[in-house]
Order: sequence, then structure tokens, then C-alpha cells
Amino acid sequence: MSKTINVLFLAAEADPFIKVGGLGDVAGVLPRELRALSTDELKLDVRLVLPYHPAVKAENLRPLELYSIPRGDSEIGVEAFETSLDGMPVYFIGGDPIHSSGSVYSLDAKLDAEKYAFFSMAAMELPKHINWQPDVVHANDWHTALSLYVNLTKRWEAGAKHVAGVITLHNMPFMGSDVSAILESYGVKLAQTDLPEWARVLPLPLGLWASDAIVAVSPGYASEVLTEEFGCGLHDFLNLRLETLSGILNGIDTVSFDPSTDKALSVNYNLDTLNKRVENKELLQEKLGLARDPNIPLLAVISRMDVQKGVDLAFTALKNMKRINFQAVILGTGDPKLEESARELQKLYPDKIKAELRFDANLARQMYAGADMILMPSRYEPCGLAQMIAMRYGCVPVVRAVGGLKDTVIPNETGFIFEKAHHMSLVSAIKAAMKTLPNREKWQELQRNGMSKDFSWGVSASEYLKLYQSLMK
Ligand code: ADP
Repeated sequence: MSKTINVLFLAAEADPFIKVGGLGDVAGVLPRELRALSTDELKLDVRLVLPYHPAVKAENLRPLELYSIPRGDSEIGVEAFETSLDGMPVYFIGGDPIHSSGSVYSLDAKLDAEKYAFFSMAAMELPKHINWQPDVVHANDWHTALSLYVNLTKRWEAGAKHVAGVITLHNMPFMGSDVSAILESYGVKLAQTDLPEWARVLPLPLGLWASDAIVAVSPGYASEVLTEEFGCGLHDFLNLRLETLSGILNGIDTVSFDPSTDKALSVNYNLDTLNKRVENKELLQEKLGLARDPNIPLLAVISRMDVQKGVDLAFTALKNMKRINFQAVILGTGDPKLEESARELQKLYPDKIKAELRFDANLARQMYAGADMILMPSRYEPCGLAQMIAMRYGCVPVVRAVGGLKDTVIPNETGFIFEKAHHMSLVSAIKAAMKTLPNREKWQELQRNGMSKDFSWGVSASEYLKLYQSLMK
């Protein structure tokens, strides 16, 4: 007999409707990959629910009947819409708190708290209005974590059937702000939790507390959040929940990121035609105004300009490589101070270093295809996609041994790894890479090893499926 697992998948953003960061990539792909795992014996009916942000781009939206949820002495209206993406039902939830806070993530923590609390409450009421009941509610990060809290506490009140709660942790330090007053206005009581006191009013900890399974976006990050260094004050609590915590690596879109078909490249190549890759390097050098020379090591940084990413360590490392013949391209936007440091570096070494301070998806692809190595000296890295994309393009990663970087880059097999978040450790790793680079056979072996790895979403989706199945028992 065929069985079905119904999954309500909640996120703040999802490609192609709205994408601001990495969460948008994950929520855009994972639900569909999960549905694709359906067989004759087991159907996975995953449905995606998103806030109807003003910037959402969606076609063929069908309005559902209006509904409301109690708030204070009255009610607040919910406007829900339905559409589909490759056959997957997608729901958008609108209402005052969502319309009034323009961007996906605003700088105003209070506005965001109002918006995502409303979204989480309204999303948990949605199933009633579409005649469909989830077996699993799958939340992502703090924005949707309250859905699990409401799911659990309301279920207790109503004595209703068990609905499993899963939360994926993409970025632990962002926990949301105090929602005690907001919860009270929705008539949701704060439960007695075993969370540290300061965390009992924050969305992410409440969601973790209410979940049946916690998934970090890499096995490495799953073990790191148990430590004081990375656990953001919740490590003791998470250690108590050890048996519910696991790590599942994110995947990359291997169809879009494919050097043999990528339209952003002038010269496509694959494992068998790896020798052609150097043409992309020369074209990149020319485009950036660097000397066109296949023998000069070309280093890339493709990253948000953020201290989390350790880009400051990369800049100091490059600054300290005066006597070494290299070229480097920095692509990124973010913290104005870090952008300024990148500009200064370019001024200091105009013939060697180029700072491209903008978001440019095509240039990023040309860099993956043309640079010899990519630097990722992250201070913490829940998963990291750039190193996986780089490997797929034969760009060898030089990464810090942290989180998902440690899980995806194998020292001397697919890349170079260093331990300490210090620029001199990075310099040593770059030097080791540069020493190997002239040995074409050895270098191509590194490139081929990386290009042969399977970083597709299918692998991750199968892991999530196993998790859902374990929760159904
Ligand atoms: P994070 O999600 O922490 O920013 P990831 O490595 O997981 O880091 O993903 C970053 C993604 O964004 C990668 O695909 C990378 O190529 C891309 N990216 C980052 N900065 C830029 C930029 N300035 N222009 C184009 N793509 C960028």
C-alpha cells in the first residue's frame, strides 16, 4: 500500500520567488528535490509556505479564502495565495505585519519579530483552510521557528494528533528578538522550558526546544554548536538534546553550476577537456586588467564582506605576500569597512589585486572557472556553498577547518586546509597550494578529484527523507 508523508516546509525566502541569501537557495531547491524522491510505495507531499513580501515575484497566484487569527481583543486578517512550482503547491501568506515591513529582513528587529511571528502563526492555521494535514512541519532558522513552538503548545492544549517538528539551523547566531509580548497578544503562553533564561523569549531557542529533530546544515556544524565557541550560549541545552541533533550538508544546483554548459563562460570544459580551462583564466585576467599569464597563480575571494567569512584575514594574508608572484580578485559586497580594506589593497598592489565590490553572478562564475584557487578563511561556516561550486569548476579551495568547509574539502585530495583563524595560517596554506600548482599532474589530480565529487541536492534530500521516516515511527 502506498504511504504519504505530508510536509509543511516554511521559510522566509525561496528562489525563484524571492532570494536574499543562502536560505533562499536551500528553500528553493530542497522541497522539490524531496518531492522528486517519491516512489510508488512512498509519496512525499512537500508544500512550501512563504511570506508574501512586497518584493515577491510570483505568477498565477490564486487567492484562497480570507481567514483570521485572534490577536489581542480582536482578530488579524490573513490573505493567503496559492501557486505551484514544478507541480509543488506553494502558498504565500500576506497580512498587515508582512506588508508593512518592506524587505525580507529589515534592520528593525521589532518589525521583523512582528512579521515572522505573524507569519508563523498564520502558516500553522493554513492547513485547515486547504483541507490538508501535515505530518511534519519543517521550519528554517529563527524566522519560522515559532511555528514549531505554536505547533507543539497548541497541540497540547487541543489534545490533537502528533505533528513532528523539524528545524534546520542555517545560522545559529541569529535568534530573533524578544517575542514574549507578541506571543501574549496572540494568546500563546510561554511554556516552562529547559532553555537558559535569556533564551526563553527568543524565536530560535523556542523552536529548537519544541522540535523533534534539529538539523544543522553540515555534520561539522552539528558538532560545533555543542561547544561553547560556536553554540551561542545554547550549547548546554543542545547537549541535552543530543539524540535529536544531526547534520545534513546542503547541496548545490549542479545543473546551473556546470562548467560544461555554463553560459557565463566563454570556454566550456569538463573532466575530459580540463586543459581548456586555462583559456578562462586568461580571459579573466584580461577582463580585469591583470597581466595575461597562465603561470601566475590567480587567487579568488567570492564572498559577502563580513567578518564571519574571515575576509579580513584574507586581505591581511595577501598584504603579507609582497615577495610572492600572484594575482588576486576579490568579489563581494557588505560591510563598508571591509569593502574599504579591499579597495586599499587594490591601491597598494594595483598590478596584482583587483577589488570588484558588487554582486555579479556572471563574474563569480567566470572566477570559479578561471581562478586557480578560492580562499575561504571563515571564522564559522555552517555549510558554505562557494567551496563546493569552486570544486565543481576545478578551482581548488583553500579553507579553514571549520563547519561545512571541513566536511567538504579533503586535505591534499580536493583542497588545502588550515586550522587557526589567523592570517599567517592562511598564508602557509596558500604557500602550500602555490608549491603544488606548478606540478601540473598533481594539480590536475586535485582539480579532478573536486570535479568528481557529488555535491548535488539529491544526496541531501535522501538524508532528510530518512529523517522524516524516522519521525513517523
Ligand atoms: P553565505 O551564504 O554565508 O553568504 P555561501 O558560500 O554559502 O555563503 O554562499 C554564497 C553564495 O553567494 C555563493 O554561491 C557565492 O558564489 C555567491 N556570492 C557571494 N558574493 C557574491 C558576489 N558579490 N557576486 C556574486 N556571487 C556572490
